[in-house]
This record gives sequence, C-alpha cells and structure tokens, in this order.
Amino acid sequence: METELCVLSGTGADSAIFEKAGKIIKDGGLVAFPTETVYGLGGDALNAESSKKIYAAKGRPSDNPLIVHIAEMSALEPIVKSIPESAKLLADAFWPGPLTMIFNKSDMVPYSTTGGLDTVAVRMPDHKAALEFIRNSTGYIAAPSANRSGRPSPTLASHVMSDLDGRIEMVLDGGAVGIGVESTIVDLTGDVPMLLRPGYITPDMLGSIVGRIEIDPAIGGILPDGTHPKAPGMKYKHYAPQGELYIVSGEDGNVTAYINSAVAKGKESGELVGVIATEENRELYKDGVVRVVGSKADEETIARHLFAVLREFDDIGVTRIYSEELDTPRMGMAVMNRLLKAAAHRVIKV
Ligand code: AMP
Ligand code: MG
Repeated sequence: METELCVLSGTGADSAIFEKAGKIIKDGGLVAFPTETVYGLGGDALNAESSKKIYAAKGRPSDNPLIVHIAEMSALEPIVKSIPESAKLLADAFWPGPLTMIFNKSDMVPYSTTGGLDTVAVRMPDHKAALEFIRNSTGYIAAPSANRSGRPSPTLASHVMSDLDGRIEMVLDGGAVGIGVESTIVDLTGDVPMLLRPGYITPDMLGSIVGRIEIDPAIGGILPDGTHPKAPGMKYKHYAPQGELYIVSGEDGNVTAYINSAVAKGKESGELVGVIATEENRELYKDGVVRVVGSKADEETIARHLFAVLREFDDIGVTRIYSEELDTPRMGMAVMNRLLKAAAHRVIKV
C-alpha cells in the first residue's frame, strides 16, 4: 500500500486533506495524525475491522486496548455505561487535554477496540488538527501511538513514516508534538480514581480536582507477586533500544564522573557509547555520542525530546547508552516511567 504523507499548513487550505482523511476512516482505513502528546494511529473506533487493522499495522498484541479519541463532550455518553461525577469534573478541568479516562463501555464499542475488556479508554486531544480530523471522520477515532510495537512513540511525522510507511493509507504531518510523552491514564470505574499511566497531568493535578487518587503499583515497575498492571499496555516492554541503556543515579558530579569513565572504557573496547545528558551537564562530558535531551530548568523540554533521542541512538547504532536520571519535580514521574522501561530497569547508583 502507498502511504500518502500530507503536510498540514494550519490554514483553511487543509480542509481538503481532512476531508480525504475522514473518508479513509469511514471506509475502514487508517490515518496517523498529530496530537499534543505523540502521533496517533487512527481508525474508526466503532468498526471492529478497523481496530484489527491497527493491531496488525503496529504489530501490537490484540489484548492491548486502544484509546478512543473524541472531539465533543456530547460524543462521550453514547459509548459509556455512565459518566461518574469525578469524570465530569476532570473533563471540565483537563479536556481537551492529555488525560485519558477509563469508563465502563456501552455496546456501541466493539471488543476489538477495547482488547476484550468491558471498559473503554477515552480522550479529547488538545490539538486543532486532531480535533478537525476526528470531526471529519466518524467522530470516534481509536488510536494508539503511531509506532511499530516495541519502538518509542513518534513525536514527528518522520518517525511515523519510518515505522509505518506502506502499512497505512495516510499520515497527517502537523510538525513536532508539544508534550512528547503519552497521555495520563486514570481509571474511573472503581470507588477511587486510579492513576494507571503517568503523563503531563500529574497525580497532584488530578488530586486537586477529585480529592484522593490511588496509584497503580505497576507504574513503579515493581509488582507484588501474581498481580498485573491495570493498563494492559503497561506490562509490555515498551521500548528496548538496540544499545543497552543504563540509568545512572546519584549526585550530579558522581553521575558525570561515572559516565565519563564508562564511556572511556567502552571506547577502549571499540564500543560506540551514547550519553543522554541534560543541558546543564553537557559540557562535563568528554567523549561519546552525547545528546542533550532537554534542560532541568525547563523540564518539559526533556519529555518533548526523550523519544526522539532514543530513536536517534538506534539510527546511529550505539551499542551502549548511559542516561542521567531525569527525575525532575513535575514531569519526572512520567519521564522516568518511560526511561526505566527503555532501560529494562537497569539503574546504577553512584
Ligand atoms: P498507547 O496509546 O499506545 O499508549 O496505548 C494505549 C494505552 O492505554 C495502553 O497502555 C493501554 O493498555 C491503555 N488502555 C486502553 N484502554 C484501556 C482500558 N480499557 N483499561 C485500561 N487501560 C487501557
Ligand atoms: Mg504506545
């Protein structure tokens, strides 16, 4: 299949592109599109066959449910059994925005969209092109991140093309995304809202609206025996770079010293070693393939660039990567959750 790459201009001239994209969705095809978090791979959420195509295009296990994207609040009611009061408050506060909420699903939503679950994940993205695309389609877009399963989520249209060219009908190129990590997921089907995946919307922000929230222990990567994460996707190794990734944790001076000596050792044995550095420490690294992920003083820059840096190391072919711990005050939980997965939880304390 030929994948059409359409660059959006952000003007009225895009309406023909949205119309074409909408028709592809109505006909059961797939279109990747930008959102404020990462690029999504969209299909008609109410068409069981479209959801199956999404799993196939991504190479994703079919028990890993998709998020249903809507563009209007009125689209929520038909696809859920009921809307808890907490969901109304959270939607008022954070929709459109990077928050996904889990509801009990209505019969309208096929099980292939929810990975066989009786619950459905719903989000209204805060992105003009995403909303326009949803409105031009069937109004319900099932979309996981638009990467091949096991690769980092795409933050540029070129990432989508490198993973899915020839496997989907169209890619809408809206430029670089703003946030860079996937949405916060909160489950509202129990008595107390439970955070299933950390993102831009922090536990404190959720708590300020609904009072108490619980945090799925799976988020830290440590699970009591015999238990599973509540978001099925959280159990999969999200992304293993080709080079082995290590997170180095400790005082700044110790971290840079450790990484410098590890890079020097790697070089002696002929290895190409990558370093994930913050802007503040850039000058302290003497050697290796050093990439600045962002600035601790502007922590959102770290979330925005993390996945692109991981992809770049794969393109360069480094065999080993050392990262500073990116445990910043606000977005640290969301960033470290992704970084720990990419590192298979290898943390070196110095
Ligand atoms: P992605 O959009 O690729 O980041 O994947 C969607 C994420 O949402 C995965 O981690 C899923 O496991 C999670 N998810 C989607 N639907 C549900 C649901 N009904 N219950 C729990 N988690 C869900
Ligand atoms: Mg994903």
